[in-house]
Amino acid sequence: MTQIPATLIRGDGIGPEIVDAVLAVLEPLGNPFAFTEESAGLGALEAHGDPLPEATLASIRQTKLALKGPLTTPVGSGFRSVNVRLREAFSLYANVRPCRTIVPGRFSDVDLVVVRENLEGLYVGQEHWIRIEDDPYAVGVATGFNTRASCRRIVEYAFDYAVKHGRRTVTVVHKANILKVLTGVFLQEARAVAKAYDGRVALDERIVDACAMQLVQDPSRYDVIVTTNLFGDILSDLVAGLVGGLGFAPGANIGKDAAIFEAVHGSAPDIAGQGKANPVALMLAAGLMLDHVGRDDDAQRLRAAIAATISGGTRTADIGGTASTSDFGKAVAQAIRAGS
Ligand code: ATP
Ligand code: MG
Repeated sequence: MTQIPATLIRGDGIGPEIVDAVLAVLEPLGNPFAFTEESAGLGALEAHGDPLPEATLASIRQTKLALKGPLTTPVGSGFRSVNVRLREAFSLYANVRPCRTIVPGRFSDVDLVVVRENLEGLYVGQEHWIRIEDDPYAVGVATGFNTRASCRRIVEYAFDYAVKHGRRTVTVVHKANILKVLTGVFLQEARAVAKAYDGRVALDERIVDACAMQLVQDPSRYDVIVTTNLFGDILSDLVAGLVGGLGFAPGANIGKDAAIFEAVHGSAPDIAGQGKANPVALMLAAGLMLDHVGRDDDAQRLRAAIAATISGGTRTADIGGTASTSDFGKAVAQAIRAGS
């Protein structure tokens, strides 16, 4: 089969270790991607003086497809978040975070998807301080906005996703009782879009605080969640916690110009370089990338091998095991070979 050109960013902290483990499991799948390696994050700042070098942007512009390890944006460096800049550069308006039980914990059968608006809301970065008398930093102000067109686009994405993946309900999560305008426009567009899917996919509406409680009590009440940027950020970490933690949560950033796949977690500097990181989230991100390019069979083989490896007792420390990152990668690669 032909290899698909893609950009690979190893990233910071645990990034290089978990990327190695992912490359190890793509090998028995016939190396479906022809990766060009580029840099971003802290490593790129140190090497090139820029956390998001032009060469990296140019590569993604060409491949329109990237797998990305976690990136650290140096605090106090004056640089904006590299992740946010990447989303903006390629109009990656949909952040899709499937959340499915692999290791049964408190719940044994979680299966839901958070679709997060990725470009607007309170993430637009329009912030300033207001001076009162001698104190220039007396008041912190953030302005958020949601454009009607973007709300429509993300809700349509969520409904189309539901149709394509055989899901029955899209829940729009908002706070339109308080943020009547900022999240009201999102709710209005959800209601308008839902009409076109009547009979195929149902619309449910939930206020974000109630949603948080219900997710913890009974996640089976949810199927596809569509929500604004900040609520999506918080809820997707919450749902990661339902299925074993950040080590199990992949994310896809989908846009009109490119798609970038990543783990939801950060660079985990506290465990970097120790071989302790769980590479499953980034492996599952590679699985989403295989789905995205139409290699659903390979994606399925990868997911089955991850599940088999964990059930067979090979686990990283975050879920009480003793396997190193690379041992876990080798075990999954072995399970792929055994299963094929
Ligand atoms: P960043 O600033 O890059 O977001 P962070 O300090 O917020 O970094 P996270 O990566 O968000 O760190 O992780 C939060 C906690 O979860 C850390 O204690 C980290 O060790 C743990 N963690 C995150 N990802 C993993 C993983 N893949 N495997 C094991 N532990 C992880
Ligand atoms: Mg973090």
